[in-house]
Amino acid sequence: MTDEKKAVNSEGTETQTASNFIHNIIEKDLETQKYGDRVYTRFPPEPNGYLHIGHAKSICLNFSTAQKYGGKCNLRYDDTNPVKEDMEYVTSIEEDVTWLGFQWDKRLWASDYFDKMCEAAVDLIKKGKAFVCDLNAEQIRAYRGTLKEPGQESPYRSRSVEENISLFEEMRAGKYGDGEKVLRAKIDMASPNINLRDPVIYRIAHVSHHNTGDQWCIYPMYDFAHPIEDAIEGITHSICTLEFEDHRPLYEWVLEQLGWWEAPPQQIEFARLNITNTVMSKRYLKAMVEDGTVEGWDDPRMPTIAGLRRRGYTPEAVRDFCERIGVSKANSLVDVALLEHCVREDLKNQVESRNVVENPIKVIITNYPENQTEEMEIENSKEVPEMGSRMVPFSRELYVDGEDFMEVPIKKYFRLFPGNEVRFKGAYFITCNEVIKNEDGTIKALHCTYDPETRSGSGFEGRKVKGTIHWVDAKTAIKIKIRQYGHLMIEDEKGENIMNPASLTELEAYAEPAVAQAKAGERFQFFRHGYYIADSKLSTEGNLVFNRIVDLKSSWKK
Ligand code: ATP
Ligand code: MG
Repeated sequence: MTDEKKAVNSEGTETQTASNFIHNIIEKDLETQKYGDRVYTRFPPEPNGYLHIGHAKSICLNFSTAQKYGGKCNLRYDDTNPVKEDMEYVTSIEEDVTWLGFQWDKRLWASDYFDKMCEAAVDLIKKGKAFVCDLNAEQIRAYRGTLKEPGQESPYRSRSVEENISLFEEMRAGKYGDGEKVLRAKIDMASPNINLRDPVIYRIAHVSHHNTGDQWCIYPMYDFAHPIEDAIEGITHSICTLEFEDHRPLYEWVLEQLGWWEAPPQQIEFARLNITNTVMSKRYLKAMVEDGTVEGWDDPRMPTIAGLRRRGYTPEAVRDFCERIGVSKANSLVDVALLEHCVREDLKNQVESRNVVENPIKVIITNYPENQTEEMEIENSKEVPEMGSRMVPFSRELYVDGEDFMEVPIKKYFRLFPGNEVRFKGAYFITCNEVIKNEDGTIKALHCTYDPETRSGSGFEGRKVKGTIHWVDAKTAIKIKIRQYGHLMIEDEKGENIMNPASLTELEAYAEPAVAQAKAGERFQFFRHGYYIADSKLSTEGNLVFNRIVDLKSSWKK
């Protein structure tokens, strides 16, 4: 059985989402009953920053894999590093996983297993598989050898079990300073895999830990801790990114030497997600937050899940994206346009359209009665007729979009220009007659006339016009602020990634009166412009700020 699902792209043609080799492994394990019928995964973030779209891939993979096979997935905080816990990160991680639509089975802390890990270390010592080493970090590095040369055994490697036990006990009791001694696995200094050259498994750090306080001054190393965490929780398939492929023999070695578990978990690696124009490292993202390059972890330009959420992306779109990119063993770079495409695909059938004009130009319909207002019925969605319609006021003075008028039209320009007639969507045919200028030469207004016979819905078929534009009524329009986002990273002339100096553009626009009722977090299509969301942080009563989620055009090619 393979895991190929049919998906439909914007052109309506069918595409295949990548088959998932991890599911093939699981299905084989189910067949051989390696873990009985159990499929148990985990998502193990380090609570040292906000999650980003790369983490979303891992979340989707772990949680939906468990779902698919009727299994379970834990949320486990990987907090074996004694750094100060930041509850802000923990809260954000849980909010993000939940927002993506997943529910963990158990929420756990790796530090809860410190006792067990210490016990495992002692067990390895007793089995002659670990020793206390007095070499310092620099010496250990020098003894380690290179890819071409085998390493050299530590002079402390042959300490007796009794001596190791008592030294490790002293390490634990706080007798030594940081770095004075370490506990190392006794494996093979000549192994072609450098990770197996007697790796350090416990180190001394006199630092208090957010969870265990000052109870410990020795802390386990990741490669030793992780397999134990997985095994304690009964994880069956421990999915991680490709950088850990060379660590897998150590993962297996730890579990095998301990021999504590009947069906120990297996580590499976997949290629991490990389996206064009996107920084995907917590460290860099954190630096951008701290130096004020962005407005926070949830800045709508950020690739963090919090940023995407505030930007207006939907969890469905992010999950769809993660599904489409599939899971592979080969590193690749995904076009950011695919993510944007998924957002458009999800929004196009669920958000209502509104008339909003940017860089407004005033239009005066000189033959329209001065004190008259008509309510024009305009459909809420071109794609979904069931979304109904709304009434939009139309009167003598209107605004049109700056893009929809050219005093001297270029070739194939079918919108407004002097002498041309266009359809004002949902209203009348309008002809531009005269451009009225301010003293400085800028446009003050366009004097136009309307043809009363052409009212939308009247069945008028007398003549056709090529252009249809949207408009707002000047008297009732509201002013809104729009924030448009570009990619945070762009390529310079040399092809190197640099920060985009113009990743944020703010502009004012006029919107039809219905927009005044927008609630924070509500999404719309602004007719012919794109999809927008009322920003939940910046919008205030009477002062709406909209984030452009994505424009309407797709630049994504299959
Ligand atoms: P960073 O290097 O950005 O700080 P990290 O990988 O150290 O991130 P963790 O909190 O350790 O962050 O990650 C939790 C899980 O998410 C890990 O299993 C990791 O493999 C996975 N993950 C992180 N980045 C990506 C990515 N770009 N694509 C897929 N999975 C990822
Ligand atoms: Mg990590």
